[in-house]
Amino acid sequence: NHQVHIVGGGLAGSEAAWQLAEAGVRVRLSEMRGSGEVTPAHQTDGLAELVCSNSFRSDDAESNAVGLLHAEMRSLGSIIMAQGDEHRVPAGSALAVDRDGFSAGVTARLAAHPNIEIVRERIDTLPSEGLTIVATGPLTAATLAASVAGATGSDHLAFFDAIAPIVHRDSIDFDTAWFQSRWNKGDGKDYINCPMDRDQYAAFHQGLLDGEKTEFKDWERDTPYFEGCMPIEVMAERGFDTLRFGPMKPVGLDDPRTGRWPHAVVQLRQDNKDGTLWNMVGFQTKLKHAEQVRLFRTIPGLENAEFARLGGLHRNTFIQSPILLDRTLRLKSAPHIRFAGQITGCEGYVESAAIGLLAGRFAAAELARADLPPPPRETALGALLSHITGEAEVETYQPMNVNFGLFPPIPGRTRKADRKKLYTARAREALAGWTANRPTRPADSRAEPE
Ligand code: FAD
Repeated sequence: NHQVHIVGGGLAGSEAAWQLAEAGVRVRLSEMRGSGEVTPAHQTDGLAELVCSNSFRSDDAESNAVGLLHAEMRSLGSIIMAQGDEHRVPAGSALAVDRDGFSAGVTARLAAHPNIEIVRERIDTLPSEGLTIVATGPLTAATLAASVAGATGSDHLAFFDAIAPIVHRDSIDFDTAWFQSRWNKGDGKDYINCPMDRDQYAAFHQGLLDGEKTEFKDWERDTPYFEGCMPIEVMAERGFDTLRFGPMKPVGLDDPRTGRWPHAVVQLRQDNKDGTLWNMVGFQTKLKHAEQVRLFRTIPGLENAEFARLGGLHRNTFIQSPILLDRTLRLKSAPHIRFAGQITGCEGYVESAAIGLLAGRFAAAELARADLPPPPRETALGALLSHITGEAEVETYQPMNVNFGLFPPIPGRTRKADRKKLYTARAREALAGWTANRPTRPADSRAEPE
């Protein structure tokens, strides 16, 4: 006799269940762990298990985007944040938690809620009717993944991410870098180009060979990524000039300072509609994060680069949300189904829970036939949601943490040091406006949650 079926009791599914239950909606929460099923990364049967680090990252709501997201979620009664706070362990300005206490706390609160029924079962197909939230995460069981591929089109479901670093445009030095498309195709200025001479290229090539890499986990080893998106360092291993004939090809690119093609070029392509974020084309990599920052800042024009995201390659199930989902996370082709969590292409514990929070609230509003507009893009919740449901470039869509590059830019020139505080102050005001404007029911509707 549930009103909403949630599949997956991880970070997103647990949060969605709590938000719905608190809104008076009866929920069935199906979690396969505890029924004899496992994932390659989870170790326990607890809900909201943290599979790796025990950190929710920065808790600074004044000048950090994920800290701001924490604050917004707390203000909306998040169970993940409440339990995170209750099981906090010392970690400076970060929020780190006792993972076992945290997961046990979430499990206990959900189990004790009169509106939540937790069922240990694996779901293999998307339900054909009834409000549903799919929150099965980066390690969605294969049978359900096949059903999702059937509903979305297999071209729109990825099993691995191949992440190239993303740079904040305002940290690029345009005394060195320039806008130009190869052979001036398109409108002629679609890419940002960073030139290298032979010595710089040789040093960079050596840096890729020497740089410390992260290892694949055993269960990730038979990754099919080599076909389409080989890590840049693997390409470098194939030969000194392989990159110059691949992603670092200089042909058709005229350095305005010399009027000639450089020896090699690093190209960046626009990654969001506002043009605040640019991804390094072909630079997916398993280099360790600190190594990426060090090495990529040797690229002329990127000496002071600020990275919105660093590169990586992982097993990760996610859909092409920007074209598949509407603004309230519903599958356009089957609107009784919402997606939430990392399967939508957000990245991280907090972001996954945040999208679960929104999915729960949107579903509750839909049941009450109330109009709940998406949170404004000026908020962290709204910036993340709009990235997933429309602002991101579809072709390069890859999982992303929340960051200020997803927010509408602050107009005018501001000192870098002030800008983050302007973002967070603007976000607080926008969230207050959104929460003050509670969902309204149409005057002619007497609908109550069933
Ligand atoms: P999950 O938390 O994975 O929850 C999905 C749930 O669905 C699971 O409990 C699973 O058992 C269940 N499920 C799957 N299929 C079915 C089915 N068919 N029927 C019923 N239940 C099903 N993020 C960070 O912020 N920090 C990190 O350090 C970090 N490390 C990571 C390491 C690894 C190896 C992986 C894979 C991910 C890591 N992440 C990390 C990302 C992390 O997974 C997500 O941030 C977060 O857990 C995703 O939340 P979710 O709710 O979307 O998915």
